[in-house]
Amino acid sequence: MPFVLALDEGTTSARAALYNERGECLRMCSVPFESRFPQPGWVEQDALEIWQAQLEAARTVIAGAEIDPKAIGACGITNQRETTVVWDRVTGKPVAPAIVWQCRRTAAECQSLAASAYGPEIERKTGLVIDAYFSASKIRWILENVPGARDRAANGELLFGNIDTWLIWNLTGGVHVTDTSNASRTMLMDLASGDWDDQLLNIFDIPRVMLPKIVGSSVRAGMIDAQHFGAEIPISGIAGDQQAALAGQACFRAGLSKNTYGTGCFALTHTGTRQPHSTHRLLGTRAAQVGEAPQFAVEGSVFVAGAVVQWLRDGLGLIQSAGESEAVAASVPDSAGVYVVPAFVGLGAPYWDSSARGLISGLTRGAGRAHIVRAALESIAFQSKELIDAMEADSRTRIQELRVDGGAAVNNFLMQFQADILDRPVVRPADVETTALGAAYLAGLAEGVFSSVEEVESFWKIDRRFEPSMPASERERLMSGWQEAIAKARLQA
Ligand code: ADP
Repeated sequence: MPFVLALDEGTTSARAALYNERGECLRMCSVPFESRFPQPGWVEQDALEIWQAQLEAARTVIAGAEIDPKAIGACGITNQRETTVVWDRVTGKPVAPAIVWQCRRTAAECQSLAASAYGPEIERKTGLVIDAYFSASKIRWILENVPGARDRAANGELLFGNIDTWLIWNLTGGVHVTDTSNASRTMLMDLASGDWDDQLLNIFDIPRVMLPKIVGSSVRAGMIDAQHFGAEIPISGIAGDQQAALAGQACFRAGLSKNTYGTGCFALTHTGTRQPHSTHRLLGTRAAQVGEAPQFAVEGSVFVAGAVVQWLRDGLGLIQSAGESEAVAASVPDSAGVYVVPAFVGLGAPYWDSSARGLISGLTRGAGRAHIVRAALESIAFQSKELIDAMEADSRTRIQELRVDGGAAVNNFLMQFQADILDRPVVRPADVETTALGAAYLAGLAEGVFSSVEEVESFWKIDRRFEPSMPASERERLMSGWQEAIAKARLQA
């Protein structure tokens, strides 16, 4: 059984990939689907369309690889987290559009909950910061706004799932499960115990009977019905996208960290079996669980990362393409004292200042386009450095090296500057499709396609390692300049 199928259901497309028994990707296929924005701040998707897109992606990849589906020994699933589907147990029809993680429709309700007597207890129990992102308030919204839904849910007629659960239920013809990493993003799970929590269910007024069973991330959860891909295939890996990426970076042990440089940055540090307790408003979460013992991670994000490069291109017209930013930045020896603070939507960890606004500081007559482009790239590294510092403090774990992926991780200038400013090696793997790869690792481990975590660690290949080479005095000078620029960005409010 040498092949592993990974289903990578993202926010804008459903992807499928096939791996061999050495963890090498043979083929990948992506099928986009629509998001809808029926009101300002609302984001919805059609769960049936997602299901069809995912089926098509998987069928295309299997057909294209020209393999016998019977040779697929395991399937792993990873998904956009928190997005909420409620469906009819008998007909399989969703009772409402899927409410996407980005949807802000329950923001006001979450704000008042955060300010209520329950606020601190919810955050302590779940490891999360109360916010409309997480599934609980979205489920409640559906139960309150779809006629008859509350009674039907209480009678056991309706089921809830994130997209992992929804896909598995359809693939297996009725297995209703999720894994601990996805469950930890619902705001209904006790992070320590790994089970649904009655107090949280009461607060959000959600009947337990509609929730899936929580299982480990690397166990056989059900069999894909042979009608879909031409053979029965065990579903043996499940993880939310960021936790799957952590696994795909072979970060299975405390102190291993990955940072994904996309539109924003998503950083996770594995904390092993130790539950993190954040004092910087980072999130405590479950890492993908291989084996019996619960695994934890601390998670944080930079709101504007690759997006500042898009702004250089589309907002300022300073570059023609994102890729050009690398050569332009490298054409000057330094940023000549210029700092770009891309606080377009405020500042996240460790500042949490939603009223801060962006700025370009330190301009002199000698500053030109290249300095501004360079400073913008540097801002991605400065923000990540401050996030990683906060994670180290929260997890009480020293990060040895930072493993990187995402669209902006191809930028060698940025990665070298990141290593310099962090004073830690930055390591870019050969396979940067870490989300799908992580799902494949988890599934293959459960089915014995891969023999052990150590074997999977040996698959993970380095494309390039960036060693820090900046003198400490230079690093400190740049960091203090950044902090002065941040202080100015916060004064503008
Ligand atoms: P997402 O998954 O958030 O859509 P991706 O991982 O696809 O993001 O990365 C896209 C982001 O990476 C964009 O914001 C783009 O500006 C940035 N980006 C792409 N290539 C480069 C590059 N060579 N240098 C810097 N940024 C880049």
